[in-house]
Amino acid sequence: MVRPLLSRWSLTGWVLASLVSACSGGRPTSAAPAPATGRGSDGAPAARAMTVPALEGYELAMSRGTRTRTGAPGPRYWQQWADYRLEAELNPVSKRMTGKGAITYYNRSPDTLKTVYIQLLQNIFAPNSRHNTSVPWAVEGIDLGRVAAQGTELSAAAGEGPGYEVNGTIMRLRLPQPLAPGGTAELAFEWKLRVPPDGAPRGGQDGEVYFMNYWYPQMAVYDDINGWQTDQYLGTAEFYMGYANYDVSLTLPAGWLVTATGTLQNPQDVLTDQTRARLDSARSAAGIVHVVTDLDREPGRSTTAGRDGKLTWRFRAQNVRDVSWAASARYLWDATNAAVGDADADGRPDTALIQSFYRPEQRVSHWDEAARYGRHSVEFFSKYLWPYPYPHMTAVDGPGSCGGMEYPMMTCIGGQWDTLGMYEAIAHEIGHMWFPMMVGSDEKRYAWMDEGLTQFDQSQAMADFFKGFDDEAGNRKGYLDLAATGSEVEVMHHGDRYPNYPTYGVATYYKPAAVLVALRAVLGRDRFHKAFTEYGRRWRYRHPSPYDFFATFEDVSGRDLSWFWRTWFFETWRLDQAIDSVATVGDSLEVGIENRGRAPMPVHVVVTRTDGRADSLGIPVDVWLGGAKRTAVRVAKQPAVKSIEIDPGREFPDVDRDNQKWPR
Ligand SMILES: [Zn+2]
Repeated sequence: MVRPLLSRWSLTGWVLASLVSACSGGRPTSAAPAPATGRGSDGAPAARAMTVPALEGYELAMSRGTRTRTGAPGPRYWQQWADYRLEAELNPVSKRMTGKGAITYYNRSPDTLKTVYIQLLQNIFAPNSRHNTSVPWAVEGIDLGRVAAQGTELSAAAGEGPGYEVNGTIMRLRLPQPLAPGGTAELAFEWKLRVPPDGAPRGGQDGEVYFMNYWYPQMAVYDDINGWQTDQYLGTAEFYMGYANYDVSLTLPAGWLVTATGTLQNPQDVLTDQTRARLDSARSAAGIVHVVTDLDREPGRSTTAGRDGKLTWRFRAQNVRDVSWAASARYLWDATNAAVGDADADGRPDTALIQSFYRPEQRVSHWDEAARYGRHSVEFFSKYLWPYPYPHMTAVDGPGSCGGMEYPMMTCIGGQWDTLGMYEAIAHEIGHMWFPMMVGSDEKRYAWMDEGLTQFDQSQAMADFFKGFDDEAGNRKGYLDLAATGSEVEVMHHGDRYPNYPTYGVATYYKPAAVLVALRAVLGRDRFHKAFTEYGRRWRYRHPSPYDFFATFEDVSGRDLSWFWRTWFFETWRLDQAIDSVATVGDSLEVGIENRGRAPMPVHVVVTRTDGRADSLGIPVDVWLGGAKRTAVRVAKQPAVKSIEIDPGREFPDVDRDNQKWPR
């Protein structure tokens, strides 16, 4: 999700206005040289505190061989699987959807399951639901008409024996027969829901466009670290979803355009010859093809006429975490293609279809550029990370409350945008196709694993598209503005347990994005990139934990980085490196350097001389890990020194830039 409603600047303005009085001390009181070992004057962490806290489930997973110390999946790694067959009919007059579905659930775990858990995410809209974001008043949750498992009809009842209980957005289903390792269970559901109006987080309808998200009962994740993950959907924290294949049939009035996760199976039934011909041409066109224009939007022109005024659109999707769809009678449809490299490893280059669906008046928000922005984003990330593997990527004009939200192969974008913001929203959501759509982390407990990585990736795409635009500086500022107030909350924190939205936003988006830039500076660009993409390669279509991310970076770089993870992910220690003094000692200059914050980092010093020469000096992080707060380096006195600066490239998120330069 892109940060909705608040820009990073207005966000931080809010933080400063309301929290500036909460600023707590983090600065040293003493400038005296510190002892070489032991704790520093402001309680700086000693080396023994520089380890990463152990996670019980992860330790167990390693002992069972499902995870490894190198961060790669273990030899006994397993993951659940499901096949979904879903049917839905949308009535735009009543704004109701009726659904029917069958799920085949594959138990690939070594455990016998007597109960399974199912997500009913629409229940965030149920009367009296629990939530921590605003939701529209008086909608409805999911209205279950039928629940069956293993051929037995089930009813809502507490207790033992077959049956189910619904608690908020989670259903606990007691199976008629235990599901053994290697076995499958058939589940069946019928349900109804009222599509929530604009104001619903991440989707819904505004009377013209319908973005259908979280519209079906979905298996919760059962994994090797935590077992069932049954955290409620409360609005702020996002999702944790398993991989599955989907076969989806969607019935709507003829003349409505429908787009969904997956490949359309029956274009000849629902699209006219003209629409199909234009769509086919977009697959190889150099520019943007207008598949459906302002003049085409009616049954018989864009879509076929249908039977009884209705059409059924059938989509199939493979190896995705979720399926969403969107529909409107008012959509225009643009399409083009993106070169993604060799996505299927057959030695030949592949392309993906790039689409946008939008209302004509949304051209003011540059929706007529959306296909072009989408193509650049998909092509950029395919090169920067690895090839985009899915058949299409589609940007959808949705209700305002979509903000920017990612779904497999789709993004729902709502609201008003300038060209920079529109590109940013599209690039960000498309970046999410890599994290978390392909690299399927738990977004609820570790929101940084998808948002932080995507915020970092978005900056790389923007630098490419806007020719050197420095989005990384924006991420760093977003973090530093909150860090300055002292009200920061650590990155390793459950997404629903931040005290307010700014602390959530900084810890999940800006701080991890800024920290990745710092890590890139610590490791060097090549080694960083190798580790970053190796993490993706190892965990594609799998469920990595933060420890797999940390361990993969250590494995690939060959470095012990526990001090880095501890500092930037588990603590709110701040970085403040300073030039404390410059003194002549014989024929050299002694540059005194202080670590005034609690965060230990290597020091990168650049000495520029009057003859134009510039020398780089590196002070390893180990200097600080013993607890020292001050160190010194000597440089030649001549040729005359013009200036000395710490981290002139601004790669580290240092809270005070003014003390990093000499002369001041
Ligand atoms: Zn996001």
